[in-house]
Formats: sequence, structure tokens, C-alpha cells
Amino acid sequence: GSTLEIRDLKVSVADKEILRGVNLTVRAGETHAIMGPNGSGKSTLAYAIAGHPKYTITGGQVLLDGADLLEMSVDERARAGLFLAMQYPVEVPGVSVSNFLRSAVTAARGEAPKLRQFSKDLKAGMDALSIDSAFAQRNVNEGFSGGEKKRHEILQLELLKPKIAVLDETDSGLDVDALRVVSEGINRFRAGGDTGVLLITHYTRILRYVKPDFVHVFAGGRIVEQGGPELAEKLEAEGYEAYTKATA
Ligand code: ADP
Ligand code: MG
Ligand code: MG
Repeated sequence: GSTLEIRDLKVSVADKEILRGVNLTVRAGETHAIMGPNGSGKSTLAYAIAGHPKYTITGGQVLLDGADLLEMSVDERARAGLFLAMQYPVEVPGVSVSNFLRSAVTAARGEAPKLRQFSKDLKAGMDALSIDSAFAQRNVNEGFSGGEKKRHEILQLELLKPKIAVLDETDSGLDVDALRVVSEGINRFRAGGDTGVLLITHYTRILRYVKPDFVHVFAGGRIVEQGGPELAEKLEAEGYEAYTKATA
């Protein structure tokens, strides 16, 4: 199995230091939840791992199976087995879901999948997520509802089968039914046991469906507490106030 290692990661955005030394190791078969208040830098962590140009690494390392992710192009990161679902997915004008996904699979594998096999896998993935077949011909994220965006993310997971998946606010904007479908998708995906999942969220409710092995509280650009699933229950009851006061 694979291991993602984040070591003393420091990141600035627009000359402001946001991440102030993040340490975290995610191994295949483990699900880690990062929870924290708005503005604590959770998405900054996801974007930095993704290689977004606006986020400047000022210190530390991110390693995937010992290889330096931060030195890789975005395509190389995908090929190395990293998957990132972003909090604000962008529209891809004129590109259908089907073509987008086939390109993503091609980028991740380094070769194009056979069209017939791909169509079969796509249909199976869409059926599992209760996605209507017409969805495959729509343009990526154009007019997607919150639920469709998230289902599209999980569909990518199922097709790409990454080694490490980073999911940022996959639960935001979902009604209870969509949350259940999306959670079942994540659970199906991690049942293989060969993938590490880093689930970033502000709310505890998705963690009722997707049970994390580890919970990390994020505040002021670093991890300030770690525990098991019981920590999520404590946060649900008490909120983040204790942590935001300590780092303000
Ligand atoms: P979270 O995901 O925990 O809500 P973010 O990582 O989105 O937190 O934001 C952390 C801090 O970094 C916030 O103060 C935010 O305003 C700032 N920030 C994030 N991205 C940008 C950006 N592209 N430009 C300027 N400031 C940013
Ligand atoms: Mg936010
Ligand atoms: Mg965020």
C-alpha cells in the first residue's frame, strides 16, 4: 500500500503565511478526517498538495511513497496515484463528463483506456451513484447542482482508483439523500483497503456515514489535536471555540 507523508508543511498565499507546519501521515487503508473552522487553512492544504500555482510552499515536504510530490507536475501527481476533489470545482467549457473522465483516466494511467471497457466502467459507476445516463453528455460542472458536483467527484474516484484521495468538503451542499449516496460511494471505494483517504470537512455529519480511523483538528494553519472517531463527536457537541481561542 501507499503512504502520503506531509512533513512540517508551510504555505503562503498572497504573501500571507497560512499553513504553519503541518505534519500528517496517511497510509493505504486508513481514513483521516481533517476538521476545523472556516478559514483555518484546510482548503489551502488541499490546494498545496494539488500544486495550485497560487499557493507558495515556503517549507517542508509532501512525499508519496517517498517521492517528492511538490516537485511533480499536476499530471505527474495524478500518475503517482494522487486524487484531489476540490471545494470549488471549475467549469470546463465544451468538455463532456464522458470525455473529461476518459482524459482523467488517461492522464492517471499514462495510456488511454479501451473505449468499450471505459464505457462499461463509466456506466457501472454512474449506476452505483444513481446518476442518470444523460449526465455523461453534459459539460463538466456547467449548471451542475451541488449534489451532481459531488457525485461527479465520487465517479472520478471510482474510475481513477487512486492510491491516495483528498476530498475537500465533499459533504457541503448535500441533502441527506445525496449525502448517503456520496458516502456509500466513498465507502465502496475504500472497502478495497488499498487506498488512503483524507477527508476534509467543517461539519461532523458525513463522519456518521464515513467512519474515520483518525480525526485531526485544524486551527490557525496547523493540526492542534488528534484522536479517533470519538473526537468528531466531541467537536459536534462542543464546536471549535476552544481551538480558535487558543490560536487567535
Ligand atoms: P478553510 O478551507 O479552512 O476554510 P482556506 O484554506 O480556504 O480555509 O483559507 C485559509 C486562509 O487563507 C483564509 O484566511 C483565506 O482568506 C486565505 N486564502 C485562501 N486562499 C486564498 C487566495 N487564493 N487568496 C487570498 N487569500 C486566500
Ligand atoms: Mg472555507
Ligand atoms: Mg475550505
